[in-house]
Amino acid sequence: MFSDNRGRGKNRRRPSGNSYRNNIYEDSTRTLRSSVGSDSRHEQAGYRKPAGSSYSYRRTRSSSSARHGRNTATRRQAARRRRRNRNRRIIAMIVLIIAFVLLVAAVVFGVRKLIGFFRGSNEEIATVSVAETFPAEAPSTEPVQTEIDRILAEADFMAMQYDYDGAKELIKSNPEAAASPEGTAALAEYDALKAELVEQDITQITHVFFHSLIVDEENAFNKEKWGKQADGYNQVMTTIEEFEKMLDKFYADGYVLVRLHDIASMQEDEDGGLSMKRGSIMLPPGKQAMVISQDDVCYYEYMEGAGFADRIIVGEDGKPTCHYTDKDGNEFVGEYDLVPILDRFVEEHPDFSYKGAKACLAFTGYNGILGYRTDETYDPNSDMYDSEKEANENIEADRETARQVAKALKDAGYELASHSWGHRNYTDISFDHMKRDADRWEKNVNQELLNGECDIILFPFGADVGDWHAYSHDNAKFDYLWALGFRYFCNVDSARYWVQLGNDYLRQGRRNLDGYAMWQDIAEGKDKLTDLFDASEIFSDKRPTPVPGY
Ligand SMILES: [Zn+2]
Repeated sequence: MFSDNRGRGKNRRRPSGNSYRNNIYEDSTRTLRSSVGSDSRHEQAGYRKPAGSSYSYRRTRSSSSARHGRNTATRRQAARRRRRNRNRRIIAMIVLIIAFVLLVAAVVFGVRKLIGFFRGSNEEIATVSVAETFPAEAPSTEPVQTEIDRILAEADFMAMQYDYDGAKELIKSNPEAAASPEGTAALAEYDALKAELVEQDITQITHVFFHSLIVDEENAFNKEKWGKQADGYNQVMTTIEEFEKMLDKFYADGYVLVRLHDIASMQEDEDGGLSMKRGSIMLPPGKQAMVISQDDVCYYEYMEGAGFADRIIVGEDGKPTCHYTDKDGNEFVGEYDLVPILDRFVEEHPDFSYKGAKACLAFTGYNGILGYRTDETYDPNSDMYDSEKEANENIEADRETARQVAKALKDAGYELASHSWGHRNYTDISFDHMKRDADRWEKNVNQELLNGECDIILFPFGADVGDWHAYSHDNAKFDYLWALGFRYFCNVDSARYWVQLGNDYLRQGRRNLDGYAMWQDIAEGKDKLTDLFDASEIFSDKRPTPVPGY
């Protein structure tokens, strides 16, 4: 099973391979570099080769011609013929050499463009002189064409994600691109497609959520190893395999990912105040908006070694990806949780995302976020240090890394959210308790790592601070969370969709797509998820059954 994951990772990675051990990762970087080097050496060797082979050709011919000729006349005739032939051969050879030099120049240009790097100045000079002697079309016109192609390709990608205005603006930003036949056609096509769009009813948007995805089912579901925790994994977690099947189904059914901020956002009123205004999500007929979220993206200490990713990192391409350690301690980088899997899926199916939207990721605080032990309770120099925890001597560097990962996630289309500091039930605990907990999250996560920009809370256990009636500022818990900056509040609800647009907030119900929810559909005929998929087609056969209830 594990080797399956490895194979899968490898196939799906960035061009340089997606999933390998960290040390292999380093090795392959070196291998890549040295193979680039040896390629260049091959080029140089190839460059000299024709000279060497033509010398040997001439030597052979002249020595064989010396053996010919019987009398003076025929010798003279023969000599003339030989001179003519020699001249022809020399001309032919010159043509061959020129052709070869051209070929080498083309190869050098091609390889250099491909690899995009410059080496020693000697090689540069040689290449430049070849280019000057035989001015190839490529260097003079290609950069312009490439820029137009790049703009048109980028505009196409934006249009596939329903951002027709953005795509048009981009093309028009380059007059040459806008005037090109392809550019003109694209502009007309975007107008036609935009005219067909239909506005989504924001009160009918379904919101589904997940926890960390299971990479190694055999490990995570091993009850002898993890005790009751294995039941918990079976209950509330989804496996990578199941998640991928769901994505395929959602996409096939016309779902398109949107952000909570697309559904509604705080806008200025006529009187200068701010209020929550419904967003205008425009999609082609047959498409329907959907929100995906993932809770507890912290890679908790207790999950270490249990068959989940251990942290999100920024990959070599600047995009977020996962670090994973298998049960034997081997390390891998690649598609080991929702983020990189969803990123690849949207790359392959741009029309699954509305203007680049991905998912909303929620963090508690007590174990830090994203797999980094950033909380003050890990800081040996803090008054808040918790002696029960292993001090993180590297905490400042880890905080900086977590900030960079959070930024990379936002750049990639993710929204970031609170899930309380201590995974508390905000319905049940007292106001003071909730306030203390929310303050700790605000300090350790929002201010320390998220630039103070977070305005979404996904309640742990779905435990809301109010019933289904509209929130009021008389509700002290709501009022306090609002004062901290929260405007988006998500509980858990079994309805297909539940959206409440308040005057100064948006509230939405979420549906858990986990082991127990699927099992209820399969074994108890609950029909909870049938609008989304047939659970029996998704449910992993590696799960122990019956799946224990919540
Ligand atoms: Zn949770």
